[in-house]
Amino acid sequence: MARSSDIEELKASVIGEIEAQRHQLRDLSLKIHSSPELGFHEVKAVAWLTRYLEENDFSIERGICGLPTAFTGSYGRGKPAIAILAEYDALPELGHACGHNLIAGSTVGAAVASKLAIHRFGGSVLVIGTPAEELYGGKTIMAEQGAFNNVDMAMMVHPAVHDAATTQALACIGLDIEFLGKAAHAAASPEAGINALEAMLQSFAAINSLRQHIKDKARIHGIITDGGQAANIVPVHSAGTFIVRAEDDAYLDELKERVLNCFIGAATATGARLEYRWSKVRYAPLHNNLTLARLFRQNMQSLGRRVLLSDPSKAFGSTDMGNVSQIVPSIHPNVAIAPKEVVAHSPEFAAAAASEAGIQGMLDAAKALAMTVVDLVANPEIAVRVKREFRRQ
Ligand SMILES: [Zn+2]
Ligand SMILES: [Zn+2]
Repeated sequence: MARSSDIEELKASVIGEIEAQRHQLRDLSLKIHSSPELGFHEVKAVAWLTRYLEENDFSIERGICGLPTAFTGSYGRGKPAIAILAEYDALPELGHACGHNLIAGSTVGAAVASKLAIHRFGGSVLVIGTPAEELYGGKTIMAEQGAFNNVDMAMMVHPAVHDAATTQALACIGLDIEFLGKAAHAAASPEAGINALEAMLQSFAAINSLRQHIKDKARIHGIITDGGQAANIVPVHSAGTFIVRAEDDAYLDELKERVLNCFIGAATATGARLEYRWSKVRYAPLHNNLTLARLFRQNMQSLGRRVLLSDPSKAFGSTDMGNVSQIVPSIHPNVAIAPKEVVAHSPEFAAAAASEAGIQGMLDAAKALAMTVVDLVANPEIAVRVKREFRRQ
């Protein structure tokens, strides 16, 4: 084990290294913010990020897992292999309203600064570029294809309205629904029709009833994407898309069946034929490695931020980092970039992602990540504790 004075000195050096990158990281994150790209189309962001890493001696592999905008950048050899994950996709209409431009900046900044720790103690640091977090769960595909199999631990920091070392994220799956009825003149011969829209409306009513009697934190929400063709035709087709979320996988399985029964019941009641398709992508709940989270928290607090161990907000979403956290010990802390009344996926959050508070959050996140890398490579027994906790989960 390294002497604690050595570790403190090295932490001061990685902080200095991030300060030295301040202008470049700021430019990089603002450039990504002002050219928002949707999931799997993050061509410019990936070009900028990989160029930056290459200029800093990382070896780059592009298009991994068959995804053109996924990549790895690696530095050093051997164990521990510490992955820092980058996201860089934006939202339709809203641009970078989830602040993924800041995730990208903090990740590459932390990785470049971590080179000092790798030189001193060995090990390796990997940037894993993960596309399409918002719309398609890029990490779920990458996890299935083994992108995290040779990694010992994975970290990333997400912009938020609280400083917290852990995140609550739910298991989640999408559901596409169609009802097929029978067209008829809605006034002249309604008795000849089968109403596909009524089947959809009854499904919503059944789900609303179900919602009263499900566990806290479970969520069911959806929209109608086709409600019929004309007011004087009995709707022959209706379609909708839904999302079901739960705190754990077992309850998600149970809820899936109960939600599906709402549609089956509506089909029976109306005579419409039901067709449904569960999405191939299923988000796993996020498992926070508390040994890693506490290390990160301590490092973030040393920068003068007050960091809670658990996120106090009741805003439970889902993230594809959940799937990574089932394979390797992981953390997905939050860094505050806006006042707590601002909500993610809003124009206000998009503005915060390009604000001075956003840039400061990105730099602090980069520093705390790099300091955590120092802890992990300098103290092999911490890595053992991290893994022991993971095996018990
Ligand atoms: Zn996000
Ligand atoms: Zn988001």
